[in-house]
Formats: sequence, C-alpha cells, structure tokens
Amino acid sequence: MMKNFYPDLYVENISCITASMLSKMGMEAVVLDVDNTLVPHNDPNPTEEVNSFLSDMREGNIKICVVSNNTYERVKPFCDRIGIEYFVHDALKPRAYGYLKAAEIMGVEADKTAGIGDQIFTDVWGGNRAGCYTILLKPIDISAENPFIKFKRLLEKPFLKKIKRSDCK
Ligand SMILES: [Mg+2]
Repeated sequence: MMKNFYPDLYVENISCITASMLSKMGMEAVVLDVDNTLVPHNDPNPTEEVNSFLSDMREGNIKICVVSNNTYERVKPFCDRIGIEYFVHDALKPRAYGYLKAAEIMGVEADKTAGIGDQIFTDVWGGNRAGCYTILLKPIDISAENPFIKFKRLLEKPFLKKIKRSDCK
C-alpha cells in the first residue's frame, strides 16, 4: 500500500523526460496529466516546453494519451490544441481506471507505459495501481489550486522528503 505512494522517478519538469530515456527503459507510451504537469491549472495555452516534449515523444515513437480528472470541456480543447488524439477525461485518479483505459486505447501493456504527473495521491498512486512506471514532477504553479488539492499537497510533504529528485540531464 505505502509503496504505491512512491514514484519510480522524480524529476523537476517535463523537459527532463526524453523519448530515448523512456525507450531504454522499455517504455512504449506515456500517460500525461494536464493540470500542473503540462500547464498551470486550467491554463489553455501549451508552452514551448510542452510542444518540444511532444515532438520528442512522436519522433521517438512513444505513444501519447492524456489522462485527467478534469472535465471534457477542459481536456478536449487542450488536446486538440496540442494535437493529441487520445485522452481520458474525468479519469477518477487515483483509481487505476484511467491508466488502464489509456493503455487499452493505445494498444500497449500498462507496464510499458510511463504515467507522468505532479500529484502523489492522484497520479503516482493511480499509475502504480495500474502497474505503470510512474514519474512525478514538480507542480508548475500551485497558487490557483482548489482547497482539496492544497490539502493533498500538505499530505504529500512527508513523502516528498523521502524521495530524491533526479537531476535533469
Ligand atoms: Mg495535476
């Protein structure tokens, strides 16, 4: 149970993750959280870093699916804007459901899928339950988060203290 709260890898941001690194680990796909992983909460505009990350994944033949607890109205237009065809909205993370559904949509095994997100009790927990390789990154901007997420951030603190963040190579 407790081990489900620890990611396989902890990095600063999305730019630290490359297709060649994932391929070397045997990964064939990524499951991406949106809010505070790719862009600030409810921000509709992808950054240059997000676009570079996605290009690198595509060039490296890593399949991409967005899995978000946010609504269709938030997730669909964002995915359209960044050219992502596969997404799961209202994913009910930390349930495994969204990750398993994503793996099914992409036609890959969950254990060859890297789940990438900014929250331990949502993304890391859900990804681990589904059997994914889990990657935690620092949230982009926590100032606009709702009280429930703020509460979860407090609970994350003792775990974060025990996880060493890898340098961005
Ligand atoms: Mg998030």
